[in-house]
Amino acid sequence: MTKPSSDALAIAAKALQAGRLVAVPTETVYGLAANAYDARAVEAIFALKGRPSSNPLISHFKDAESAFAHVEHHPMAARLADVFWPGPLTLVMKKRETSALCSLVSAGLPHVALRVPAHSMMQELLRLVDFPLAAPSANPSECISPTSAQHVRDYFGQNEGLSLILDGGVCDKGLESTVVGLFEDGPTLLRPGGVTRQALEGVLGVPLLSLPEDPARLLSPGQMLRHYAPKNARVRLNATHVEEGEALLAFGPTHLVGTPTLNLSEASDLEEAAHNLFEMLGALDASGAASIAVMPIPSAGIGEAINDRLKRASA
Ligand code: AMP
Ligand code: MG
Repeated sequence: MTKPSSDALAIAAKALQAGRLVAVPTETVYGLAANAYDARAVEAIFALKGRPSSNPLISHFKDAESAFAHVEHHPMAARLADVFWPGPLTLVMKKRETSALCSLVSAGLPHVALRVPAHSMMQELLRLVDFPLAAPSANPSECISPTSAQHVRDYFGQNEGLSLILDGGVCDKGLESTVVGLFEDGPTLLRPGGVTRQALEGVLGVPLLSLPEDPARLLSPGQMLRHYAPKNARVRLNATHVEEGEALLAFGPTHLVGTPTLNLSEASDLEEAAHNLFEMLGALDASGAASIAVMPIPSAGIGEAINDRLKRASA
């Protein structure tokens, strides 16, 4: 892993100030960042990713105070921020009229998505610039999310639209943030992710509301059915056998063998499985197999987020 010098961070900050895009490491996945106040820069994110403009972006801040300056007060927000920020939790809250976040960031919605990332390099970058960074994952829309700088290079390395890729090593969590909407009828889980439902409910003292599939689209338009998908291979879930020529994404101890086989966690550790998920899905796809069989994965804890991604990858 190459650690960018403070020079690289200064160059990144300059590029962002000039309205250019920079790929950044976070503890979840790599992001494609732009100045969240600059509508043209944000537009360039959507263009480079091929992302529908109806799918809003998360804005990243150096701390909770600068994030909450953009939204109306909510009684649960500070408690969640105290425990989970910096970290893989995104809060969707009602935007203040005075907020300078450009409306494209939130796809014109009255709510905005806020996060304070923990990765040290991203933190340093956020302290070098005087604006928040709008950043979705640094992959073409619908594709597998990047968990290393090399993945971003593979996707966008040749593209003039991207100024710079900051290499902060392999992402620690390897899965996107948990998105929680702080709405009037109660805190709502919009996307499972790096922080578990159980941990959130433990802090809030109330159960999180879940969304039925359809209204989910209105409240969190990014919940596309097909997402995180391999370029070539089909994904077959809950596999208890392997078919001729199929690759295998295993979990836990097993005698099953695929062509080839990768194991998310031989020790049945769900955090380790989350960390490996996108990397291994991408590697099995690159092996040329036409189909990837995925063994059943428990949905406890971060397993909820793993199963969410797998369901969309197989859609
Ligand atoms: P991504 O940036 O691709 O990791 O996705 C960001 C996620 O946050 C998507 O699932 C969006 O639907 C969700 N999100 C972002 N902004 C909002 C918002 N204003 N309201 C509801 N959901 C949002
Ligand atoms: Mg994404």
